[in-house]
Amino acid sequence: MVLRIEDTDVDRSEAGFEDQLIDDLKWLGLDWDEGPDVGGAYGPYRQSDRLTIYREHAERLLSEHKAYLCFCSEEELQRERERATAEHRQPIYSGKCRIIDPEEGQRRRNAGEPCAIRLRIPEHPIRFHDIALALTGSGSRNVMARLPSRTFAIWEFCPKHW
Ligand SMILES: [Zn+2]
Repeated sequence: MVLRIEDTDVDRSEAGFEDQLIDDLKWLGLDWDEGPDVGGAYGPYRQSDRLTIYREHAERLLSEHKAYLCFCSEEELQRERERATAEHRQPIYSGKCRIIDPEEGQRRRNAGEPCAIRLRIPEHPIRFHDIALALTGSGSRNVMARLPSRTFAIWEFCPKHW
């Protein structure tokens, strides 16, 4: 078992949280073969120390057109979520940046326009079996993954509903 620390949410990752988390897990009787406190072959064990790895894979996905650049601002996304909620719809990203030509997106990115990298989820339904919950899930618009442009942020992968 590998213990990896999710510390990319800067607002919620203060010094001492990691020690407290490790103490709590040990109190619960959990033990791990590798982690930030014991080392091992599959480090680094803090997500913030793995950003180079994630960036490399995100760029590969972009070059393979399996991901795309999203130029929506946080404020735009928030307004979109509020509008959906007010209309009793699920607050799912509209995917409006999905149709931006990749070359045009790269030009805008190179010009310094802030952007996030979003996984290009297939339009057809995705089916999978969740062994933890013993459920079969499906849906493509209900799954999102995003690599925001902020320094400390990684993929968000959120199955929205089953
Ligand atoms: Zn967008």
